[in-house]
Amino acid sequence: MDFESIESTFQEDEERIFQSISTMGHEQVVFCYDKAIGLKSIIALHNTVLGPALGGVRMWNYDNDREALTDVLRLSRGMTFKNALAGLNAGGGKAVIIADPRKAKSEALFRRFGKFVESLNGKYVTAEDVSMKPSDMEYIAMETRHATGLSESMGGLGGPSPVTAYGTYLGMKAAVKKAFGTDSLEGRSVAIQGAGHVGQSLVDYLTKENAQVFITDIYEDKLQEISKTHQVNVVDPNDIYQINVDIFSPNALGAVLNSDTIPQLNCNIIAGAANNQLEDESLHGQMLHEKGILYAPDFMVNAGGVINVFMEYQGGKTVEMSFKKAEKIYDTSLEVLTYAEEQNIMPQQAAMHLAEKRIKEMGNLKLSFSSNR
Ligand code: NAD
Repeated sequence: MDFESIESTFQEDEERIFQSISTMGHEQVVFCYDKAIGLKSIIALHNTVLGPALGGVRMWNYDNDREALTDVLRLSRGMTFKNALAGLNAGGGKAVIIADPRKAKSEALFRRFGKFVESLNGKYVTAEDVSMKPSDMEYIAMETRHATGLSESMGGLGGPSPVTAYGTYLGMKAAVKKAFGTDSLEGRSVAIQGAGHVGQSLVDYLTKENAQVFITDIYEDKLQEISKTHQVNVVDPNDIYQINVDIFSPNALGAVLNSDTIPQLNCNIIAGAANNQLEDESLHGQMLHEKGILYAPDFMVNAGGVINVFMEYQGGKTVEMSFKKAEKIYDTSLEVLTYAEEQNIMPQQAAMHLAEKRIKEMGNLKLSFSSNR
């Protein structure tokens, strides 16, 4: 074995890794590897001031390990802001499993991941994210008490999407109130990108309130499904950005608000559930602002799902309680958008400021508790 070349590669990578971690402010990053089982995973704990680092595990066929590391660092940081702003006593964390979800899923792989989660003694609480199903979470939960997102039959609170859609709908209403003075969606036009779990459920709320819905997806069957049950206008995926609507609602992938798409937009408000919608937080936040588009930050409106898994982790809670707690997203969204206006800053910055303020205050509170003991 060539230890010298291993050492020099390691030194280069080590510098870059520590630089990323220090810039983004992570507390701990855990690399988990089991060669025999074929598990390669990274768990990132961004901030645990408010409580255990809570965030899902994503299984994805990353092109390389660095791409997986970047993803887990970004996502776990986002969870810190999301959980803090949602008023949860949870910090921010996330995990990735580096493997093809169509080929590599197995009981052994998930149980091994569960053992790694358990080894952190509750500092990280895992949940479902991209490519993960409640049945996968059940294997993880065989090895750790710190797994959520289980099906109702297994004592969990079921999938998070209905609560996410409800919170997104309320956040959208708050943005409409800010832009138009009333939060009614009756007669408002909404362009939805993505007819998946959240998108479909969102359509339900919008059509019940007589909004005019335009929807797109890359899969024809999803559009047919939603057209059978709801009054919607189906559009081509390439046309969704240009439609003249009151609200554009991204519910598919991240980074859809970028230098290519923003010039095409023809809307007053953006409010949707997709994570990390702004490709570049400051550049693209500023572009939207200059175009006069009110952006409802994704982590502010899409917190319903994490509220649901947090309630499950607490135990003794029901889905109805999760919906009740998600109602607060309306007031929080109004508070953030008003603060942004008053401070003359981007809504994304405003949401981050308020989240950071809560973390700071609760951190001080903990310190004062421990010094008074
Ligand atoms: P999903 O996979 O069920 O749905 C996503 C849909 O988007 C799919 O139907 C897919 O075909 C479609 N899509 C993908 N690329 C597209 C494109 N270019 N144009 C149009 N449609 C496209 O996912 P979901 O659970 O509904 O989540 C939607 C988004 O919300 C994701 O970004 C997710 O990370 C985020 N989110 C979800 C939750 C939750 O509780 N499910 C919580 C927070 C955030």
